[in-house]
Amino acid sequence: MKSLRTIALKEAQTRISPEVKSPSTKISEFFGVNVFDKRKMKDYLSKEVYEKLVSAIEHGELINQEDANHIATAMKSWAMGKGATHYTHWFQPLTGTTAEKHDSFFEPSGDGAIEKFAGSALVQQEPDASSFPNGGIRNTFEARGYTAWDPSSPAFIMESKAGKTLCIPTVFVSYTGEALDYKAPLLKALAAMDKAAVDVCQYFDKSITKVNASLGIEQEYFLVDLALYNARPDLALTGRTLFGHMSAKGQQLEDHYFGSIPERVFTYMVDFENEALKLGIPLKTRHNEVAPSQFECAPIYEEINLAIDHNQLLMDLMEKVALRHNFKVLLHEKPYAGINGSGKHNNWSLITDTGKNLLSPGKTPKNNLMFLTFFVNTIKAVHEHADLLRASIASVSNDHRLGANEAPPAIISIFLGSQLAEVLDEIESSRSIIKKVKNEDSLWLGIPKIPQILLDNTDRNRTSPFAFTGNKFELRAVGSSANSSAPMTVLNTIVADQLTKFKVEVDKLIKKGEKKDVALLTILKKYIKESKDIRFEGNGYSDEWAAEAEKRGLSNIKTTPKALDAYVSEKTTELFTKLNIFNERELHARHEILLESYYKKLQIEARVMGEVTNSMIIPAAIAYQNSLIENAKGLKDLGLSGDALATPLAIINKLSEHLNVVKTSIDAMLEQRKKVNAIEDSREKAINYDEKVKSYFDTIRYHTDKLEQIVDDSVWPLPKFRELLFLK
Ligand code: ADP
Ligand code: MG
Repeated sequence: MKSLRTIALKEAQTRISPEVKSPSTKISEFFGVNVFDKRKMKDYLSKEVYEKLVSAIEHGELINQEDANHIATAMKSWAMGKGATHYTHWFQPLTGTTAEKHDSFFEPSGDGAIEKFAGSALVQQEPDASSFPNGGIRNTFEARGYTAWDPSSPAFIMESKAGKTLCIPTVFVSYTGEALDYKAPLLKALAAMDKAAVDVCQYFDKSITKVNASLGIEQEYFLVDLALYNARPDLALTGRTLFGHMSAKGQQLEDHYFGSIPERVFTYMVDFENEALKLGIPLKTRHNEVAPSQFECAPIYEEINLAIDHNQLLMDLMEKVALRHNFKVLLHEKPYAGINGSGKHNNWSLITDTGKNLLSPGKTPKNNLMFLTFFVNTIKAVHEHADLLRASIASVSNDHRLGANEAPPAIISIFLGSQLAEVLDEIESSRSIIKKVKNEDSLWLGIPKIPQILLDNTDRNRTSPFAFTGNKFELRAVGSSANSSAPMTVLNTIVADQLTKFKVEVDKLIKKGEKKDVALLTILKKYIKESKDIRFEGNGYSDEWAAEAEKRGLSNIKTTPKALDAYVSEKTTELFTKLNIFNERELHARHEILLESYYKKLQIEARVMGEVTNSMIIPAAIAYQNSLIENAKGLKDLGLSGDALATPLAIINKLSEHLNVVKTSIDAMLEQRKKVNAIEDSREKAINYDEKVKSYFDTIRYHTDKLEQIVDDSVWPLPKFRELLFLK
């Protein structure tokens, strides 16, 4: 019988890409055609209702029942006109993926049937969602969950060959009003950010009434042929390879990065980009990444809530469209040991309703004081809550990446670039600004000059988890499969809180009779001093940095279960409850869910490891060993001995050595699992899964990879790295 690997290899080599036709060569002609955007709202709604909806979108004003009915009817007309038969609330439960439950517009009525979509169905649904993770929030007696419409993210139509569905972005909360999803706390954090930033903006420009946090998400991913993927149970069940000797050629020649995109991959990219563009996802960039078979795409930045909905939708589209091309897209942070993993860089900035980016240095010193205010407060916030930021990016899969010498380390630090680092140093050491100034003009002498165009001048430092890149901060430590809401909820909350504290301190000085600008600079100077330890301009991968960071008292928490402690610390609880973003119960629920997800995923990995080793790898090695035994016997029958038998005997012995270690390790791991599974406390269990179960993975892998190198290639059951990574 031919092995799955052999069949898969043949299939992978004879692929023909489906034909991909772009709707138009002008993207502007089909961008957003499947979105119920403002232009369509205007067409389908009365002027009055349209204006109310826009105001709900922009200022969070409530929509009454009657208007909701109008909007629902308009959405239905538009969606049915485009061929939709069903609608669904579209939400982001804490599983990490998106969820939908479709209902048809169809409704039987007295004299036949009609197509209906009531305002009440638009505004709220009650999915029977009792099996979503809830961390103990929903006991069975209050098991109901509600989805509620988020007007700030427009409805869209999801197309599939078999039918079209109108999707309405919603939050997902429990009967008692607690968040069960990623979106609800994010919206609260963004509102807190808006308020705090607008308040601080008043020092500089009274015309600012709204500040939007913006986000541009770079998405890295791997592609692998579908047949090869299916021949690897580890990839298929855990998203990563648990075995596999590194291909002789990996990324060492650096010949893939920004290289010419392979035709089959290019066709796939164009296909999913078209789908994304129709859904209003402003994809702009595509290129090869560092590792073989690794790629990246990036949209133009948008308001955060929308950017995250779009990224979630994009990941879903990428997976669906990949199947049409017989690809599997791997969003896991580390599908292959030994080469780069994938991240999701979160480019973050604050933009006012007057069009100013608060993280962009301006033309005048006054503008620069405004820039410095937001810049320094962000640094201070990250310094204050580095552990929480670390917790927000922690996951079982991202653990392979953080600190693994090719991704930002688990130590949170901030890279500013030499120019801005100097500016802050100068402010810190200058005495003039703190001295009472005679007039406004002399104050400005105290503010160092900031070059206006930083964008092209900022140095790049790929080793920093949080880097300033000209007019935005880039949080690079987010994992490729993550929902960015978790880190963005944290980042916006901590900066909002920091800005609020800043305002209190500045106002106090002003009240004491200090000039406004002097007050601002005085507090900024204090913050620069207090947050200095979080700044690091050097190589984040180096051992020296780990030592230096320790000296500075910065945390270096390498594994998820311990990193997650920061979610339930006193400091975090105070922060989130004060700003009404999470209550204590919600925080504990989230903590519990994250721990559960951690050990459950490790449990699956351990099981797959056992299964594949016992039923595929060991039998293959024994089969090969048997053929060597036959060979040795045959040689002996010929009357040969000594040297003539040396090679088969040596390999037979080597095979036994590795087989023994593999078998005893697998058995020992199973025993440990039984013990650890009995632990009740989730944190304990997660830590033990890491320290007592996962700790076997490396040994097992080392020896199975040795077996892979010596066993006859034609009987090896699993597609090898060179096949997974280099077949196009
Ligand atoms: P890089 O050199 O890091 O790849 P790019 O300019 O290509 O930087 O931008 C990467 C992402 O950052 C894109 O999604 C882009 O839209 C986004 N971006 C650019 N400017 C901003 C900004 N002011 N705020 C938020 N995101 C931004
Ligand atoms: Mg970037």
